[in-house]
Amino acid sequence: MPQSQVSPAPPPFDLRPACPQCGRAMLIARIDPVSLGVDERTFECHQCNFSETALVNFR
Ligand SMILES: [Zn+2]
Repeated sequence: MPQSQVSPAPPPFDLRPACPQCGRAMLIARIDPVSLGVDERTFECHQCNFSETALVNFR
């Protein structure tokens, strides 16, 4: 019996930047709303523990 999986298109905030140190995909550690349409996102690399904060404008 075929199973159909509904997989919605990944929202932009699922984008994971590559770690500048080891090149692995980083994970989102936290998202802080800064203002309307702007988030401050903290990414963490679980490979080498590098962390990075980025402002993301999604308007
Ligand atoms: Zn890394």
